[in-house]
Amino acid sequence: MHNLTKEFSLIAKYFQREQSSRHDIILGIGDDAAILTPPAESSLAVTTDTMVYGTHFDDSVPVKALGHKLVAVNVSDLAAMGAEPTWLSLALTCPAINELWLSEFTSGFFALADYYHCSLIGGDVTRGPLSLTVTAQGFVPQGKEIRRSGAQPGDRIYVSGQLGDAAAALAGQQGTIALTDIEQARLNKRLFYPTPQVALGQALRAIASSAIDLSDGLASDLQHILHASKVGASIDAGVLPTSLALSTAIPEQQSRVQLQLTGGEDYELCFTVPESRRGSLETVANQLGIEVTCVGVIEGSEGLRVTLNEQPLLLTTAGFNHFGV
Ligand SMILES: [Mg+2]
Repeated sequence: MHNLTKEFSLIAKYFQREQSSRHDIILGIGDDAAILTPPAESSLAVTTDTMVYGTHFDDSVPVKALGHKLVAVNVSDLAAMGAEPTWLSLALTCPAINELWLSEFTSGFFALADYYHCSLIGGDVTRGPLSLTVTAQGFVPQGKEIRRSGAQPGDRIYVSGQLGDAAAALAGQQGTIALTDIEQARLNKRLFYPTPQVALGQALRAIASSAIDLSDGLASDLQHILHASKVGASIDAGVLPTSLALSTAIPEQQSRVQLQLTGGEDYELCFTVPESRRGSLETVANQLGIEVTCVGVIEGSEGLRVTLNEQPLLLTTAGFNHFGV
């Protein structure tokens, strides 16, 4: 009984923070449920993501990064809908309460949550195999959410940022590609500390016809847009945005683009833009200082066609599997 009391006070020490500055939280952590007031004329966007030890991460991931990433993957789903992230709930299952672990985890978790002015509004801690679940909620003006189903033939396909760094970091750790320590460290940053494209997602409400965030790899995530919109697409693998770290680590283009197309964990956005709004997109991207790259076009005939140097390219892996599980 004594131990249990001690555990509860430890949990409170790390998760219960001073009163949130968010005015939409009437009652936060500490009662049986949180009481919240979404703004008028807004829809609520809600998403849940789980990270399981042994499936989504292992001991190679710093605990602080785990906290960051758990927030990032959930917020990234809200960004893809054009929503503004606001509230987080956390369900944490762990084998034992370890104070050092809690301190590292919550420092990563709250650093990113605070950055987006997102508040933790509730949670649950249970004993068991390590597993982390966050439910993230956010607002989007009514009728303005960006769905996967709005792509039309002729729309251009864009991606934000650069692709493949996280997958290369994972491949390097697993020994499927050879990286120097410096290359591994550079690429690890993108794997461990992804940056969800929150500002871009909200700016795309009036511009994009569809959007998705890149968690499983461009080829498989784009397929979700194609299925939902009942269209097809062609993409040019030769123009995929590539970081200097990645092109240095994998100079050979064929294997690099395979990784960029099928590797996951980028947490960039893939979205479609009608021809008439491409100028608006360029203006917005410049204002935000975010790189966006047109990688292809939506077509009427179904299926995804990928070319590299004007030759058809066959994908060697269908999609991304965490740790090959
Ligand atoms: Mg998603």
